[in-house]
Amino acid sequence: MLVAALGAAAVVTGRGQTPAPAQPAVGQTLWTIIGPDGRRPMATTPVGGREMVTAEELGRVFGVELREDPLTRGLALTVQGKTIVVSPTTGLASIGGRVVTLSTPPVRGERGWSLPMDFVDRALSLVYQPRLDVRPATHLIVLGDVRVPRVQVRLETQPRVARVHFDVTPSTPHTVVAEPGRLVVRFDATALDLELAAAGSPDLVLALRALPNTPAVAIDEGPRYGTFRVVEGADGPTRRTTVEILAAETTAPGQPAPTTPAAPGQPAQPGVPGAPGPEATPVLAPEAPSIHTVVIDPGHGGDVDVEGVRGPGARGPAGSFEKHVTLTVARMLKSALEARLGVRALLTREDDRTVYLDERAAFANNNKADLFISLHLNASVSQKPSGAEVFFLSLDGYSPEARRVAQMEGAVLPTATGGDRTIEMMLWEMAQLQHLEQSAVVAGLVEQTLRARVKMSPRAIQQAPFRVLVGANMPAVLVELGFISNPEEEKLLGAHAYQLRLVDALVDAVGRYRAQIEARRPAAPVPGTAPAAAPASPPPAPRTP
Ligand SMILES: [Zn+2]
Repeated sequence: MLVAALGAAAVVTGRGQTPAPAQPAVGQTLWTIIGPDGRRPMATTPVGGREMVTAEELGRVFGVELREDPLTRGLALTVQGKTIVVSPTTGLASIGGRVVTLSTPPVRGERGWSLPMDFVDRALSLVYQPRLDVRPATHLIVLGDVRVPRVQVRLETQPRVARVHFDVTPSTPHTVVAEPGRLVVRFDATALDLELAAAGSPDLVLALRALPNTPAVAIDEGPRYGTFRVVEGADGPTRRTTVEILAAETTAPGQPAPTTPAAPGQPAQPGVPGAPGPEATPVLAPEAPSIHTVVIDPGHGGDVDVEGVRGPGARGPAGSFEKHVTLTVARMLKSALEARLGVRALLTREDDRTVYLDERAAFANNNKADLFISLHLNASVSQKPSGAEVFFLSLDGYSPEARRVAQMEGAVLPTATGGDRTIEMMLWEMAQLQHLEQSAVVAGLVEQTLRARVKMSPRAIQQAPFRVLVGANMPAVLVELGFISNPEEEKLLGAHAYQLRLVDALVDAVGRYRAQIEARRPAAPVPGTAPAAAPASPPPAPRTP
């Protein structure tokens, strides 16, 4: 499944309807800038593992002019009459008295100065007109009020029905029209910021594909296609439209569905646009260690407090609730994990409802998840603390601060437990204890990838006695994405661009963790070497003092 999913994602991921304006050189990433005057490409280059863009390229695309300022020993970047001063030693960028931190300082190379790609999002976007909307997931920058909704398409299949989910942000008018051999979902937009997940139901849906030069997605009918219906989700910042494909009533009950669809007319040519063929039969290797399923746990939910945990979670000074932010980020993370890593991602709650802490871990266990990620927002009585924190379980060693957070999110054994419950809890406890070492590795990776993108708390990685983690029979971490009690951070946590950064970091961490696990697969033993695999980075100390 993984093999096929990744292969298909590679064909269609990205701005499907966007013609690639140029071929990037080896190692380069091509971004597309869509503005009122059309599209243009911008290339970035990895330098020391960071995505960097040359000042030359920033000049060509945004009209940025760079000069070295001997007085401040900084780089003065002028655009549209405004100046951003960047320190080549610290990476701090100053814009009219406001200071932001870039993920890494500028570097000087053969082609002059290069800046980290987040210069565009963190610094340039503060002065540039029209407004810049940076979308890292699809390497897209949208200028001004051009309508480029983010459309994430995912296929969910059951024996007699295939559901094609369109998650559209912001909500955009659309039509679904049946054409010969296909259904076309057309959006009222200039272009689509499109992520198509791999198709996986060739008897009902032969292929999902972007139509060239038009903001539309085609659903090619498979041989068992019968009829369709459209289910519209509730309107909101992201709106889900589901096209349900129902099987024709021709297959006798009990008769197995054809696994390989007859490609009518011509032989399929995989990878050729417009000639969708059946997906290659996946080669399953169920024993190979990898990350096949990730369970994402949006913290809190509902309006009632259970097990000492507030249903709505923490509330920010401007009135936003933790439960809503965690759900939004969890949904985005699910789509991104599925589309970008080809893993199966499941949520412990899909909407605003009460879910008990033990149910969350049990859900992950029942779905045989390989990784459990619980998402929360921190809160403090003071408005000052800010930054993200990553936790993994500890039952006996944790700081008072970690204990405070655990009490807010539900600590182990908060109240008296019944007889059966105690036994159950003890079994559950043993479940996570077996995975603590790997949970520490995951926590370390999440901390690294978050740090590259967002502000971290001084206590970036900690252990605490979280009840929601205790029962998880797989590596498990709890991420406090930021402090909702800090007014600035509350604003950030509610902003799509910042949420994308968080999601990007988490996807990156899962990808790196998967690579580590897969690198550890037993190979032919090399004499004289240790068989165990050291993680690429040392795990944090197993205990907080
Ligand atoms: Zn919480």
